[in-house]
Amino acid sequence: MSLIVQKFGGSSVANAERVFNVAKIVTDTYKKGNNVIVVVSAQGDTTDDLIEKAKEINPDASKREMDMLLSSGEQISIALLAMAIEKLGFPVVSLLGWQAGFATSSVYSSARIKKIDTNRMKKELDKKNIIIVAGFQGINKYDDVTTLGRGGSDTSAVAIAASMHADLCQIYTDVEGVYTADPRKIPSAKKLDEISYDEMLELATLGAQVLNNRSVEMAKKYNIELEVISSLTCKPGTIVKEKAKMENTLISGVAKDTDVARISITGVPDRPGLAFKMFSKLSAKDINVDVILQSIGRDGKKDISFTVARGKGKEAVSILENYLSTIEAEGVLYDDKIAKVSIVGAGMESHAGVASKMFEALYDSQINIHMIATSEIKVSVLIAEEDADKAVSAIYDKFFGNDK
Ligand code: ADP
Ligand code: ASP
Ligand code: MG
Repeated sequence: MSLIVQKFGGSSVANAERVFNVAKIVTDTYKKGNNVIVVVSAQGDTTDDLIEKAKEINPDASKREMDMLLSSGEQISIALLAMAIEKLGFPVVSLLGWQAGFATSSVYSSARIKKIDTNRMKKELDKKNIIIVAGFQGINKYDDVTTLGRGGSDTSAVAIAASMHADLCQIYTDVEGVYTADPRKIPSAKKLDEISYDEMLELATLGAQVLNNRSVEMAKKYNIELEVISSLTCKPGTIVKEKAKMENTLISGVAKDTDVARISITGVPDRPGLAFKMFSKLSAKDINVDVILQSIGRDGKKDISFTVARGKGKEAVSILENYLSTIEAEGVLYDDKIAKVSIVGAGMESHAGVASKMFEALYDSQINIHMIATSEIKVSVLIAEEDADKAVSAIYDKFFGNDK
């Protein structure tokens, strides 16, 4: 008997008809003699709607109360899905994150899973129950409900697959797999049969929301193969695994991320230790810094620019402004009308000219590059947000147009 973990995103359970569609997929899997643990997200746009509701009451609500509110979305969907499965005549139990044993760090709104106490889930499987777990949530050492950050249900599913030693982890969503670009933006994008953890991790981190990046990180760590598949067609999707078979292309995907803000610290004295001081202030507040660019020193001064997630931008600026005198800089500039567009592919490690081909595509479209970052398997550029969609199309055509 196999243990199968199936995760369904918000659009897969958006209304009663979709909930029954999921109930059918789950019970068909169960009928074949498998143990099934299901993870679900909040229905449709529920999480966004709850955030708007909170803003009407208190735009500066504490993260603890935001987690209390946002976790309710998943509570609704687990109960509804369990009711649908009951109606189909199968044994089922729904569990909130804490009931399923999810212990997390204390950081509200972006908690990390520390441990899963699997006792309850094991008992329910012994009773032959189908288990429906609320994604995106857990409980911290203060017995408070926490959430794992947007898109966190993918991570809940992979964590269950790892801790319960599942045989298969399927991520059901509203597209048929992982594509070479967002298929909603680039209709000619192609579905990949396989993709490696490393490439998927880069794509997810760089804005391809089809999988949450932490879920891919965890899948790689515990070597859990993932199948990204559509809950509407159930056609074979994309397998995410350690070594994917090489496609005949240099790059496996183009991604866009608009959740970026750029901060520049100008007139920083050109001597050792100041970057350390600046970035340690930010990391002390759990603010992740991404692309970093430092200009060469002139007249004893230099500028340091970097990007952070937009949601953290204002907080980062106020921290740095408070410390301007201690880091002896002149000023802080902030720009959140920018986007990061990236190409990812294991193929570029062994091929020259990939970056220049990307820059040529941008030049052809007269798009100005503000910052560039590279790794062995990715090239990212920071550009004006208004140019982002045009840039993705131009880059996509350059690499994939006419199957080049
Ligand atoms: P779910 O609610 O199932 O978690 P998400 O909305 O989080 O679904 O992720 C699925 C969406 O990711 C798709 O609808 C698609 O628009 C978007 N997406 C972005 N980049 C890609 C890509 N490279 N491949 C597939 N989907 C992508
Ligand atoms: N409902 C949460 C969100 O919208 C978690 C998830 O969908 O994975 O971010
Ligand atoms: Mg998602």
